[in-house]
Amino acid sequence: MNPLIRVALDVPLPQLFDYRCADAAAVVGARVLVPFGRRRMIGVVVERPGKSDVTEDRLKAVQRVLDRKPLLDHDTLRLLRFAADYYAYPLGAVVMTALPAALRRVLKRDGMPGGWTLSPAGRSLTATLLPARARTQQLLLEKLQASTPLPHAEAAATPALRKALHAFRAAGWVVESELDPATAAETAMPKVDVGAAAPALNTEQAAAVGATVAAFGRFQPLLLRGLTGSGKTEVYLHAAAAALQQGLQVLVLVPEIALTPQFEMLVRARFPGVGLATLHSNLAEGERVQRWQDAREGRARIVLGTRLSVFVPLPQLGLIVVDEEHDSSFKQGEGFRYSARDLAVVRASQRGIPVLLGSATPSLESWRNATEGRYRLLELRQRIHAAPPYIDCIDLRQHKTEDGLSPPLLKALRDRLAAGEQSLVFINRRGYAPVLICDSCGWLSDCPRCSARLVLHQRERRLRCHHCGHERAVPTACPDCGDADLAPLGQGTQRVETALIQHFPKARILRIDRDSTHAKQAWSDMRDRIRKRDIDILVGTQILAKGHDFPHLNLVGILNADSMLYSCDFRAAERLYALLTQVAGRAGRGTTRGQVLVQTQFPDHPLYQAMQAQDFAAYAQAQLEERRSAGFPPYVHQALLRAEAPKLDTALDFLAAAARAAAPHADGITVYDPVPAGMMRRAGRERAQLLVQCASRARLREFLGHWRQALAARSSRARWSLDVDPLDF
Ligand code: ADP
Ligand code: ZN
Ligand code: ZN
Repeated sequence: MNPLIRVALDVPLPQLFDYRCADAAAVVGARVLVPFGRRRMIGVVVERPGKSDVTEDRLKAVQRVLDRKPLLDHDTLRLLRFAADYYAYPLGAVVMTALPAALRRVLKRDGMPGGWTLSPAGRSLTATLLPARARTQQLLLEKLQASTPLPHAEAAATPALRKALHAFRAAGWVVESELDPATAAETAMPKVDVGAAAPALNTEQAAAVGATVAAFGRFQPLLLRGLTGSGKTEVYLHAAAAALQQGLQVLVLVPEIALTPQFEMLVRARFPGVGLATLHSNLAEGERVQRWQDAREGRARIVLGTRLSVFVPLPQLGLIVVDEEHDSSFKQGEGFRYSARDLAVVRASQRGIPVLLGSATPSLESWRNATEGRYRLLELRQRIHAAPPYIDCIDLRQHKTEDGLSPPLLKALRDRLAAGEQSLVFINRRGYAPVLICDSCGWLSDCPRCSARLVLHQRERRLRCHHCGHERAVPTACPDCGDADLAPLGQGTQRVETALIQHFPKARILRIDRDSTHAKQAWSDMRDRIRKRDIDILVGTQILAKGHDFPHLNLVGILNADSMLYSCDFRAAERLYALLTQVAGRAGRGTTRGQVLVQTQFPDHPLYQAMQAQDFAAYAQAQLEERRSAGFPPYVHQALLRAEAPKLDTALDFLAAAARAAAPHADGITVYDPVPAGMMRRAGRERAQLLVQCASRARLREFLGHWRQALAARSSRARWSLDVDPLDF
């Protein structure tokens, strides 16, 4: 047998590493423990090459093969390879991100399969044969007798246990066992019964489910567009039921952890007895490994998770659902900047299965694919219960606001309060006011480390930067001129909350933003209180916007939308439309028709007009026309080279050199000039960026391959990263 293996390691180097390995178990996808420099590391075998560029005498040997069967299957590795190539990121790091942390770490053995069992000599041990004072050894023996194998994590739970284990190993009383837990084939398939709890679908829903089910077994992206409350979730559940009945696994991706409990409850109620694994970043390590293994070994039939779940190995995967497909949280914001939505489509195509993308406001990328026939468009035009909310603008040129609230909005709130209904006041900023200003000299509370302002948090009497975390006490006088009259400028959730308390002293008011939901349990407790009608008026940020179903909420007031209207980012309008639609979707989820009031200086702006008409198709078409004529995505493909350094010039110089290095390969590629980033300073580092674009995705990919190599070979004091299909500029 060829004794060479090629291994992916989590190191910031673009290449893979060759080792010698005589163990036949070192198949592609298995983990190995290898020497690396002076350390030992865990890696994954990704190839068995015929020969190596490393000379025989310098080739090191694998220390141990950690898996008896491949941990990552062929399909998963294929997806990871694609991702590494497409996002121009080192394969080693990409492969290792796909593994739960506990399976990547050398010393902690908790995640490894198997554990310790008593050797033949150990089995003849009794407690009396151990030294009487060695209490931990006694305990360890009991544990080993009770469970075979004793998982690594338990055997090494305390330092004392680890010491006892060491003694047992030295005496030859224990052996390591790598027994795998039950595999998919041995798990009995539960019968899936969806008859009881499920409502009968309406015609559009039934058509959407039918189209999805008809695509089982072949690649077919489907775009499900329907307003909130139009029954999209019900479509996912029915399509999932059909997949489960055929013995297929289902992967459901959601943009945020906060959305998982609600979905989890639905799935458990609908499919009792069906294995469900929920995966997100807020799990304890051991739990994450367990659920990941459940998915990989087929015990979990439905996997529900945030973006990283797109890489979970699923041997019988037959359907992928991406809810809120337009949401930018599917894009990883740093390091390996992949889009889980896009990779879900790639995964479906590699595997030959349908992928169902759902949204009230699809991304323009997906919408274009649907209108041009590459994706199948499925529409739900009706809301299940109430009709869509009325959307009206409050013209701020005619109504003066006080603490951000206009008289017509206050009146509407008062009416709902009198009727015993809930309302939501939405404002996209937390804190009391976005900046503190000195009226005499114009001093502003700038962050010393970022190109941003320090936000006033009134209750805590602190000024805080929402970008780098810098904070300080509120000064009693202006640091520049000494004037004591410092005034908050603009509104945040705290200020609006305070004003509402003054206007409606009897109302039960609840503020929901990242500050108030910080504690782990806080948000779910708040959600319960809202559902139980213990709250009259909610004040909140976009935490509230997504997917939550509050049946008694009938009025939504939107403050400060204009601040998002004019921005240099070409996606600003798309985002605002989606955000407003989502916030508006909170109104009238029950049986009463909801009302949405948008406070604006520009009631005639096409975006607000389109919102009021609730005509997504027309709006999206107009946006696409603009994008086409301006030469923006989705009509071109982009990549952004970002650089940061203590001094802006260092970053700009690096980018200028990068542009020169691009030239020999840049045929057909537009390479723009290096410019300072939208937010130039952040956490004390100066940032700049260089945009490249091309009408052909394939051509851009090819170029990026060359360019990345050229960049990796340069040395600079700037830190750099490539962002393919960037969403933020
Ligand atoms: P969306 O996901 O589009 O926001 P949901 O699927 O959550 O919409 O549906 C909104 C509400 O309507 C839910 O309470 C759901 O149980 C209910 N519902 C969905 N489809 C039907 C149906 N065909 N008949 C009755 N109720 C339905
Ligand atoms: Zn001053
Ligand atoms: Zn800052």
